[in-house]
Amino acid sequence: MERKLVSIQHIDHVEPIPGADNIQKARVMGWDVVVSKGDFAPGDACVFFEIDSQLPEGAPWAEFLRPRGFRVKTARLRGVLSQGLALPTSILDGDTPPVGTDVRERLGVVKFEPTPSDARDVAGPFPGAVPKTDEIRLQSMLGVLEELRGHDFFVTTKLDGSSATYFRPLEGPLVACSRNWALKPGPNPVWRMVERYALDTVLPPGFAIQGELCGPGIQKNRLGLGETDLFVFSVHDTRTGRFLDHADFIAFCARHGLRTVPVEHVVTGEAARAFPHTLARYLELAQGVYAGTRSRKEGIVIRPLVERHSPTLGGRLSFKVINNDFLLKDED
Ligand code: ATP
Ligand code: MN
Repeated sequence: MERKLVSIQHIDHVEPIPGADNIQKARVMGWDVVVSKGDFAPGDACVFFEIDSQLPEGAPWAEFLRPRGFRVKTARLRGVLSQGLALPTSILDGDTPPVGTDVRERLGVVKFEPTPSDARDVAGPFPGAVPKTDEIRLQSMLGVLEELRGHDFFVTTKLDGSSATYFRPLEGPLVACSRNWALKPGPNPVWRMVERYALDTVLPPGFAIQGELCGPGIQKNRLGLGETDLFVFSVHDTRTGRFLDHADFIAFCARHGLRTVPVEHVVTGEAARAFPHTLARYLELAQGVYAGTRSRKEGIVIRPLVERHSPTLGGRLSFKVINNDFLLKDED
């Protein structure tokens, strides 16, 4: 699910920040955000910009972010974590639409994208039969916690590389893709994995695998790998339109000699029923380093052991929690 980068939301809560005269701490959905004092009372509507909003140059309300390149990033102000930006609805000059309305286009906001894809490598569109890889941030969709409650689930490490999808159609050659495009065969890391794992013969027709490519030259290579490798996080059967459940996904990867993303926890039975599904608990689990390194990990991804549809997300139940230490100290 695409997140609503800029939307109308309620201010749930406002509290003072000790020693600060001009700013306050507010809560919007699952996000803590620092606001100007006097801008909001609890229950007020606001325009909420999620982190990675790239504000338009030239709008008076965006001017204060000029020194930061107009990008909304995680920050710490007077010791308080601030994630996002809440502005009064008066910036809309016009009617305020209902809570939940996406106003990104109306305000001319785009998403900050660190690495524009290289047009020379593109062979065509992403295959329509396979869902693109994406994970929603828990803080923007707290409703998923209720949907997971009581079910067996697992937690994987979120790797900070680049997304790759390999799809073997029922007929015709393998399609290898980056996050959004099918790529031409060539010396790119996406296609190198095709040779390394013989994906064109190993994948059963109709199946797609999706994983994170990590290695030298990809992001910061926080795993410290000597050569590029693929860490699978999803297997999709396009004939049924379903993702494999955890056990089948693990077995599939083992059978075909593929690595998976690190599985940090598998929580079942009584432990799953008693598990405290709170934002605070997940923020704790998101902390730490990549196993065997000193690099802070980017976060975690949480899914039920048996695939479930999420009414909140309008798709598979799966979400990510980003490590706030990573956002503050390591994010580009
Ligand atoms: P946002 O939508 O929050 O702005 P984004 O769309 O840029 O962020 P990411 O923050 O990179 O996406 O999170 C989703 C991506 O995480 C997936 O596309 C996938 O490539 C990657 N990923 C890395 N590790 C995992 C994992 N363990 N499970 C699932 N996805 C993972
Ligand atoms: Mn996304």
